[in-house]
Amino acid sequence: MAQIGVRTPHRARRSRSTSAGTCTHTPCCPSADSGEACLARVRTAHPEQGWCLLCNGVIAFDDGGAVFPDSHTIEPPASAAAA
Ligand SMILES: [Zn+2]
Repeated sequence: MAQIGVRTPHRARRSRSTSAGTCTHTPCCPSADSGEACLARVRTAHPEQGWCLLCNGVIAFDDGGAVFPDSHTIEPPASAAAA
């Protein structure tokens, strides 16, 4: 009665297609090319460095700037740059 803990990956489903393709949240995070990209959940936070990686691959900075997976950027507001 040996139970072998082998798990077969179930990655065959392709019903959802986000740009990152790895979002497991419900509801799904907004994709990086949507207008609400910065509302995605944080995947990795680095507050000591002032940035965090969002679920959809967007890197959001504390000053309001952001870098998107397709390499376009959002500049931080002018008021934040002065700080
Ligand atoms: Zn997500």
